[in-house]
Amino acid sequence: MSIAVPSILERGFASQDIITRDVVIIGGGATGTYAAVRLREDFNKSVVVIEKTGRLGGHTETYFDPVTGYPVDYGVQAWVDGPIVRNFTGRFNISLVPAVSPPFATDYIDFKTGKHVIPPFTNATIIGQALGTYFQLILQWPFLAEGYNLPSPIPADLLLTFGDFVNKYGIQAAVPTIWTFSQSVGDILNTPTIYIVQTFGISEVQAVLENGFVVPADHFNSELYLKASALLGADVLYGTTTIDVARHDVGLQQITVQTPTGQKLIKAKKILVTIPPTADNMKPFTLNHHESSLFNQWQYTTYYTGIIRNGVPDDVNVINTQSGTEFDLPTLPFVQEFSFSGVPGLHTFHTVSTKSQTDADVESLILSDLTAMSSAGTFPASSPSIEVLSNHTPLGLRVTADSIAAGFYANLYALQGLKGTFYTGLAWAGDYTSVLWTFTDALLPGIAAAAT
Ligand SMILES: Cc1cc2nc3c(=O)[nH]c(=O)nc-3n(C[C@H](O)[C@H](O)[C@H](O)COP(=O)(O)OP(=O)(O)OC[C@H]3O[C@@H](n4cnc5c(N)ncnc54)[C@H](O)[C@@H]3O)c2cc1C
Repeated sequence: MSIAVPSILERGFASQDIITRDVVIIGGGATGTYAAVRLREDFNKSVVVIEKTGRLGGHTETYFDPVTGYPVDYGVQAWVDGPIVRNFTGRFNISLVPAVSPPFATDYIDFKTGKHVIPPFTNATIIGQALGTYFQLILQWPFLAEGYNLPSPIPADLLLTFGDFVNKYGIQAAVPTIWTFSQSVGDILNTPTIYIVQTFGISEVQAVLENGFVVPADHFNSELYLKASALLGADVLYGTTTIDVARHDVGLQQITVQTPTGQKLIKAKKILVTIPPTADNMKPFTLNHHESSLFNQWQYTTYYTGIIRNGVPDDVNVINTQSGTEFDLPTLPFVQEFSFSGVPGLHTFHTVSTKSQTDADVESLILSDLTAMSSAGTFPASSPSIEVLSNHTPLGLRVTADSIAAGFYANLYALQGLKGTFYTGLAWAGDYTSVLWTFTDALLPGIAAAAT
């Protein structure tokens, strides 16, 4: 008869501080929540989610205006309609309605001068033709809808900078529209085209053309994650981060975590990493040389969203359109836009930088842009305040075209399942909830089978 002997690591923990599960999921955002619910409810696997904040949902964030009580989504806005979105929201009895663009006026303003400008392309037919050409071009690459399983050789057009791609195919008039979807990559004209397609791909273009985005009928996207949180209950450890991850090809993985009430040891058959696998995020994992050489290559964007009060008149959206630059795209760092939320006084915003920024840097960027608008007399002077500021960094994870050509993604994907570890999340496929749930879905049978 054999007797289970506790490992040295285990001996440091009281029995109530040792959690044993089939799968430990790091990160409780869109993909971590999806995987946890599906693995537990549909694959009959025990799970625990490690989430550093006090809530599920990640980039999905909702603010409740204390004046009116109305919700304002200032992260994820809408989902691309399709079976995966219907199935997952349906299990929480969330009914969906088409996301309708409200009939607010759009003003084009150079945020540096604060003055109105005429956008570079105004002819709807020419813009539509350029977008049509873009759509026809990206139809060549349906495999991108499932992530980065790239053919060999990789199509050369995907590795061109997007600026060169635009010039090659004469789709200049589509650039400002594409930028509104792809600005999270930073400098879109100097980014490999593959990343533009991953942020404005076939299903997203179709959704734009056919009104194919949906939102919960209650108009607050966090509803999904609140309901998932209630379902998962104690299987989520909030306010918790990993301290040390001991991984093994065979046997149990041992993950030491810091919870608000002290350290705990998680023993799990498999690990699912859903957080962006930057070198910094992966520090507790004691990476081998090969893993480090991949994860050290990421470049990413510093990205903030939030809500201002009283900066811009109601019923108006303003888009940053900088005179004198290529396609009048604003130079980094920039505030992309102020969009009217539908709630009196409140506009949402996004800010983009390819360098690191502090909260104070972003606040000062926003307030100086708003001051420029009132100083220029574009809008009446007001006393704007930043109601909410939310840091979504790191976003737009990308590597160089040379690295992609040298097989970066083949090497990255080959990590799946090694050392007891699987991966999903925004670094692994196009950064849309529906795409990432689809990517995650494809992994789940393999994870469930491996975690027996
Ligand atoms: C502002 C914004 C708007 C968007 N709008 C849309 C949209 O309208 N429609 C759409 O389809 N997609 C949209 N997206 C894309 C969106 O990123 C993805 O849909 C999705 O949120 C990515 O899921 P994820 O699980 O990879 O990451 P996340 O949802 O970010 O989840 C990661 C989770 O891990 C947690 N975490 C991070 N580090 C650690 C750590 N070390 N330990 C423990 N936990 C950690 C985070 O707190 C977070 O909860 C938007 C993205 C952003 C940023």
